[in-house]
Amino acid sequence: MQGFWSGKRVTVTGGAGFLGQHVVRRLRSYGAEVYVPRKRDYDLTTLDAALRCLLEHPCDMLIHAAAYYGGIGINVHEPGRLYYQNLVMGANLMEAARLAKVAKVVNIGTACSYPGYLEGHLREEDLWAGPCHASVVNYGLTKKMLAVQGLAYKKQYGLDSIHLILTNLYGPGDSYNPERSHVVAALIRKWVEAELARAPSIEVWGTGKPIREFLYVEDCADAIVLAAERYQDTAMPLNIGTGKGTSIRELVETINDLTGYAGTITWNTDKPDGAAMKVLDVSRMKAALDGWTPPTDLRQGLAKTIAWYRAHKAEADAKW
Ligand code: GDP
Repeated sequence: MQGFWSGKRVTVTGGAGFLGQHVVRRLRSYGAEVYVPRKRDYDLTTLDAALRCLLEHPCDMLIHAAAYYGGIGINVHEPGRLYYQNLVMGANLMEAARLAKVAKVVNIGTACSYPGYLEGHLREEDLWAGPCHASVVNYGLTKKMLAVQGLAYKKQYGLDSIHLILTNLYGPGDSYNPERSHVVAALIRKWVEAELARAPSIEVWGTGKPIREFLYVEDCADAIVLAAERYQDTAMPLNIGTGKGTSIRELVETINDLTGYAGTITWNTDKPDGAAMKVLDVSRMKAALDGWTPPTDLRQGLAKTIAWYRAHKAEADAKW
């Protein structure tokens, strides 16, 4: 690791964000020179700014970890913004990367890009097998276009890129805004607030039946750095996950257990369930990353996240 990254110039979009900050910390600890563009300096939704960013801060590798994203709520309320921001930012950065002659681009994709009706472990080969789930199509499809662009730019311009498909992330520093948050952050906030208010009951969304996979954000950053170093196949996206499915009901029970909440739980089935199952097949990941698997198990990661949220509640709630 150290040898590969030492002195390498890496630009990380979204490098101050939930995931990106951990990627940046690791790269710097391995000796890379990391640049994190900020929106006030470079609005990456314009090609001119994306190109200026890469020309004014030349890099050997671009890791595109910026995204406008969120849980099932934001997909309902802001489909247009999700679509435009992600599509245009990604397209501009790839175009700028080839004009600035960046040696390798690492694009961060999402499990929302998989066909929504598939229920087994999702394999990279099945990415193109059918339509995304309607609840996440704007985010999923625009991120998927980066894989299309990657292949097109490899064929026409010889640009090297890889496309990493991330499962649902959670951890300290996530968005805890109920309008925007994913399920883990949303539940942790509900549980901690119910405890503080001594609320007799908590409402959660859907039926509890959907199965999701949860990856601790720091483990994900480890995988991204490893893949950036070792994975080279532009034509084949690479899943990053734990490969383990957990039902929303089990997740709720675990958080309930870890917080010690004693009230009742109600399920609001007027709220959407989303896809029935979203769990990645991680066999290609293990092979590509020389046997690496995420070290943090769900219970341990949830305990750390709950402790962090309790200690940083005001700051976490104010963000996003
Ligand atoms: P998804 O993975 O794209 O479906 O996004 P989410 O992480 O937002 O939701 C995952 C599942 O958790 C869905 O079935 C939701 O209905 C369920 N869920 C239960 N309670 C909540 C909640 O308070 N917030 C969110 N975002 N999801 C919840």
